[in-house]
Amino acid sequence: MQRTIDLQGHRGARGLFPENTLTGFIGALAIGVDTLELDVTLTADGVVVVSHDPLLNPDHTRTAQGAWLAQPGPSIRSMRWQELAAYDVGRLRPGSDYAAQFPDQAAHDGARIPRLVDVLRLDSSVAFNIELKSSPRMDGVDAAALAEAAVAAADACGATPRIIVQSFDWRGPRRLRQTRPDIRLAWLTRGEILAEARSWWDGPHPGDFGGSVPRAVAAEGGPLWTPLYSELTANGIAEAHALGLAVVPWTVNQPSDMRRLLLWGVDGLITDRPDLARPVLSDLGLPLPPRRPTRLGA
Ligand code: MG
Repeated sequence: MQRTIDLQGHRGARGLFPENTLTGFIGALAIGVDTLELDVTLTADGVVVVSHDPLLNPDHTRTAQGAWLAQPGPSIRSMRWQELAAYDVGRLRPGSDYAAQFPDQAAHDGARIPRLVDVLRLDSSVAFNIELKSSPRMDGVDAAALAEAAVAAADACGATPRIIVQSFDWRGPRRLRQTRPDIRLAWLTRGEILAEARSWWDGPHPGDFGGSVPRAVAAEGGPLWTPLYSELTANGIAEAHALGLAVVPWTVNQPSDMRRLLLWGVDGLITDRPDLARPVLSDLGLPLPPRRPTRLGA
């Protein structure tokens, strides 16, 4: 059987289009990905919206009048959906460090923070990796409530069989494991938070598993482990596979890293640059996801 790879466009395709916007997701679909990765949180009136940041990010957010935010905020949780929809997130702030990271990102002035349902309705065959942006460090967004609301949005769109739900805050996926065993879950990790794992994982710690993160993920029931790519080793992948886990690292943007990880046996890649990943997959004789041309309102 031919090996399959889950090519995931990170926040759409952040290297090329404004992140977590309909324009960006449409761009990623046209390039050709298996899965759209996106981040979600809740507004004051309980709408699941697609944004990475709990506070509006001054690196890519302007008011309806076009003024750059002077500082982070206000918080998405404090705003109603209608207020939030006034902000423009279609351009990186010129001169910012963030803009320097993505020199190939094209601006799309007028792009707005979409609702999750707006993204889920863009295409009826692509998969979605929905990252729950709750955090044990922040009050305001209840992890279990966000998880339930995101799945309710997927149910309403008929997208549930095509979603993965992931989080660094394991409380959300754990809730779904109990209430919705039909949902595929991914357990996000990065070394930086392992010292605080008891908080992020709400109890367990790698030390409970001989220092093994994959064993901790397997104890949650898997089936997916989504680690930071630079912390991943060939041995770590082998260990995860032996535990029955699939391994899909984030955020892999250099073709040399993509190639190395694929040769080590990863089961997918989360990338800001799916356009650069496709030639690497091709080169290795791996199958490519279809291109899905679409447009708003189609
Ligand atoms: Mg994410």
